[in-house]
Amino acid sequence: MNRLTGKVALVTGAGRGIGAAIARAFAAEGAAVVLAELDIATAQVTAREIAEATGAKVLAVQTDVTQSASVQAAVSEAQEALGPVDVLVNNAGINVFADPLTMTDDDWRRCFAVDLDGVWNGCRAVLPGMVERRAGSIINIASTHAFQIIPGCFPYPVAKHGVIGLTRALGIEYAPKNVRVNAIAPGYIETQLTHDWWNAQPDPEAARKATLALPPMKRIGKPEEVAMTAVFLASDEAPFINASCITIDGGRTALHHE
Ligand code: NDP
Repeated sequence: MNRLTGKVALVTGAGRGIGAAIARAFAAEGAAVVLAELDIATAQVTAREIAEATGAKVLAVQTDVTQSASVQAAVSEAQEALGPVDVLVNNAGINVFADPLTMTDDDWRRCFAVDLDGVWNGCRAVLPGMVERRAGSIINIASTHAFQIIPGCFPYPVAKHGVIGLTRALGIEYAPKNVRVNAIAPGYIETQLTHDWWNAQPDPEAARKATLALPPMKRIGKPEEVAMTAVFLASDEAPFINASCITIDGGRTALHHE
C-alpha cells in the first residue's frame, strides 16, 4: 500500500465523515496527512487514531475554511512540519437546506462561505507552490446536488454547482503547469451529515428507509467508497484526468425513475 508514498496531503473537514475516511486512506497509502478541521479536539482524536493504525505522520491543525488567512496558516504549518503540500482535498462542507423565499441572508452567506469560498480559499493557498513545483492534485468534494435539484434544498446545490465551475476553471488554468484539479460528486453517503438530516425530518426512520430505497443498488454509500476514488485522483495513476468530476452514487443520477 504505497500509492501515495512521499506525498503530503491536506484534507479539510477531516475530523469525521468523508474527510476522515479520505485522510485514513491517504495515510494507509503512505502519505503524510494534515487534518485541517474547525473542531481541533475531533481532529486530534482522528489524527491519533489514523497515526496508530497506519504509522503515517499525521498532523491536526485548527482551520476555518471560510477564512483565507486560516487556510493559508494551515498550509504554512503543514509545509513547515511535513514539506510542501502535494495533494489538497477541499472536503469541508455544510448542508444549508431552505426555501428560497423564506431563507435568511445569513443562511445564504453561511452556505457560500463554507461550500464555495472554502474551496477557493484552499485552492488559493496551495496553488502558488504547486505551480512553482509544476506538480499537484486538488480534489474538490462536490455532490450530486451539483447537477440535480431537490426542491426545498436551496442554496446548497447552487454552491455545489459553483464547485464544479471552479474545478473546471482552475483545471484549465493550471493544466500547463501540471496541476490537476478534479471533483468528486458523492450521492448519499452515510455520515453524521446524513444522520442529522434524517433526524431533522418528522419521521427519521421513514426518511432513512426512503433514502436507502433511492439508489438502484438499494443502499447508500460509505465514506470509504469516496476515499478510494480520492486516492486514485491523488495518485500518479490519474496523470491525465483533469477538470473532471467523478460521480459516486451507485448509478442514482443515471436513473430516470423506477
Ligand atoms: P460531516 O458533517 O460529517 O463532516 C464535515 C466536516 O467538515 C466536519 O468535521 C466539520 O467540522 C467540518 N467543517 C464544517 N465547517 C468547517 C469549516 N468552516 N472549516 C473547517 N472544517 C469545517 O460531512 P460529510 O463527511 O458527510 O461531508 C463532507 C463533504 O461531502 C461535504 O462537502 C459535503 O457537502 C459533501 N457531501 C456529502 C454527502 C453525504 O451524503 N454525506 C453527499 C454529497 C456531498 P465540525 O463538526 O466542527 O463542524
